[in-house]
Amino acid sequence: MTPQPDSPSVLSFEEARHVVQEQAGSIRLHTTEAAGATEAVDLLAAAGRVLADPVVADRDIPPFPRSTRDGYAVRSGDLSQLPATLEVIGEIRAGENLNSLPAHVDPGQAVSIMTGAPVPAETDAVVMVEYTSRLGSRIEITRDAATGDNVVARGAEARQGGLLVDRGVRLNDAAIALAASVGKSRLEVYKRPRIAVLTTGDEIVGVDATPGRTQIRNSNSYSLAAQIFAAGGVPVLLPIAPDESEKLGRLIELGLQSDLLILTGGVSMGRYDLVEQVLTELGAEFFFTGAKIQPGRPVVFGRLRSAEHKYFLGLPGNPVSTMVTFELFARPIVEALSGMSSRKLTFLHARSASEIRVKTGLRRFLPAILSGELENSQVHLVAWQGSGDIAATARANCYVVIPPDCEVVAAGEWVAVMVR
Ligand code: AMP
Ligand code: MG
Repeated sequence: MTPQPDSPSVLSFEEARHVVQEQAGSIRLHTTEAAGATEAVDLLAAAGRVLADPVVADRDIPPFPRSTRDGYAVRSGDLSQLPATLEVIGEIRAGENLNSLPAHVDPGQAVSIMTGAPVPAETDAVVMVEYTSRLGSRIEITRDAATGDNVVARGAEARQGGLLVDRGVRLNDAAIALAASVGKSRLEVYKRPRIAVLTTGDEIVGVDATPGRTQIRNSNSYSLAAQIFAAGGVPVLLPIAPDESEKLGRLIELGLQSDLLILTGGVSMGRYDLVEQVLTELGAEFFFTGAKIQPGRPVVFGRLRSAEHKYFLGLPGNPVSTMVTFELFARPIVEALSGMSSRKLTFLHARSASEIRVKTGLRRFLPAILSGELENSQVHLVAWQGSGDIAATARANCYVVIPPDCEVVAAGEWVAVMVR
């Protein structure tokens, strides 16, 4: 079953993404509802893991009205005439016992207060120390204030019992901080899925081998392993499969024992591109056998008819095709298997530093360097020799994405950029 140029199973980029997202949804449900899907980890080891048990507020946050500045807690009504002179009746430090706050702050009075300290009842604003001058036991204030200025009300950030981090969220620095702030020193997360990686090709040899003149070392298994780790999975590298049906079939069956099988190579139109044929013989159904993108057009995605949760992706063997198609189509599946909620691809926009000419018909992902200024950031294509050129791609920090109907991008025109 070789994909023909106009075969219906060659989808547009959007259609292929849609199919992947749809399957990812059912994979996520199946994964997260399975018995034994989760494990507990220490907070220090939880960054990058996917939360399985929601983190909720153990008390109101903040638990008291909190000053966000060093300054003076005042009754804002006292500042209608400026400058205003108020009597300072005390000082409140961060961590101050609530019982030792002044019981009353009368009109004409203020309390010196530090960042993070509780704001006394009867005051409603904090004036920053910068807008005051101290005159013995009195203070002169040169700015007015409105109710709530520089004060975070009790429970304004979260109410006791309120949801702080939902299940399915990949834990970043802020989520880890939230967990710490509510006393969760251990978190329940989803176990990492095992992703089998099967490289195919008679010309491919191991990293430690000395390749013959026409052989090349296996780099795809390693770029894929790096991408799988980044997506939350554990790569399981299988032996290199030759372009020979029987051995390839045995290794595919081995790979299908993992949570997902990712193959590279052997999905193009060549005589020795056997992956689809062997998968078909093993009872596979294909959601698509190509996507209108470049690099990466021959990408295939499917599952076994006999086991509807045994999915595979066949990525084209050209190293840059492998990297791009993983990001676009395999990453969502690995993320779903790791319990993560679905996520859109994010694109930035920058001005193209030079004219770009491409043939129409395929959405292009061209390795490029985003210059990265705060304003007027430009993007430069790297000079490359096509989708086998790992060296050029290693110099790139992004891909410029060109829509399939576009023939020319003028220098200075805005283009979409996918960061890598
Ligand atoms: P294929 O998709 O099998 O037609 O391979 C396309 C190109 O990618 C060929 O030039 C292969 O030699 C190269 N290639 C395939 N697999 C790998 C790999 N594991 N590492 C590096 N290059 C590869
Ligand atoms: Mg090959």
